[in-house]
Amino acid sequence: MKLLLVEDETRLARVIARGLTEEGHTVDACERGTDAIEQGLALDYDVAILDWSLPDADGLTVLRTWRSRGSTMPVLMLTARSSVPERVAGLRAGADDYLGKPFDFEELLARIEALHRRSVTIGALRAGDVELDANRRVLTRAGAEVLLTAREFALVRMLFERVGDVCTRTELLGGVWGSSFDGEPNVVDVYIGYLRKKFTELQAERVAITTIRGVGFRLETRT
Ligand code: CA
Repeated sequence: MKLLLVEDETRLARVIARGLTEEGHTVDACERGTDAIEQGLALDYDVAILDWSLPDADGLTVLRTWRSRGSTMPVLMLTARSSVPERVAGLRAGADDYLGKPFDFEELLARIEALHRRSVTIGALRAGDVELDANRRVLTRAGAEVLLTAREFALVRMLFERVGDVCTRTELLGGVWGSSFDGEPNVVDVYIGYLRKKFTELQAERVAITTIRGVGFRLETRT
C-alpha cells in the first residue's frame, strides 16, 4: 500500500513509518497540515493516517479540505482526544476510522488494512451477475468463484471497466502485456479463451466476451 502519514511528533512518526515500511508499505510523511493538504491532493494514496493536532492547520481542517476538493482517500484519524463530541466531529468531517493515542502498532496496522480492503471492495467491478473482486483476484457468481492469474486478471479488468464497449486488440495488448510487447498479438485471443472457460466454469450464461472480427473484444451482458 502507498500511505500518507501526517504526524508532527517526530519520534512517533518515525516509529510508525518504520513499522509500516517493514510491513512492505511505502510511506510519505508530513509534519505540517498545510503540507498534508497539498500532498494528499497531489498524489493517490491507499490510506492516509492523519493526526488531529498539528502545529498549523489541524487534522480536522486538513480532512475537511481534502473532502471539499473531492478526495475520497480513506482516512484514519489519530487523536488523544477521545471524547465523543470530538470523535463525532472527525467522522462528520469525513474520517473513515479513528484511533486514540496511545495505541499498539498492531492495531494501527489492522485498521489500515481493513480500511484499504473496504475501499477496494467498494470498487469491485460487476457485469451482469458476475463480480470481479480485485482484492482477491477472483471472479465470483452465485457463491462460486474462480481464481485468475495475474494476466487474466489484468485482461478481464479492462473488459469489466468498459462493459458493452469494444476494447481493441492493441489496447488490450498494451494494457496487459505492455506497449513494448513484441510477441504474437494472438496472445490476446489465447487469454480470451482462458477467460471464456472461466465464465463457463461459473456457469455465467448472462455474460459473454464477444469477438468483434478484425477489431477486438467486447464484454456483453444479457438479460
Ligand atoms: Ca500531534
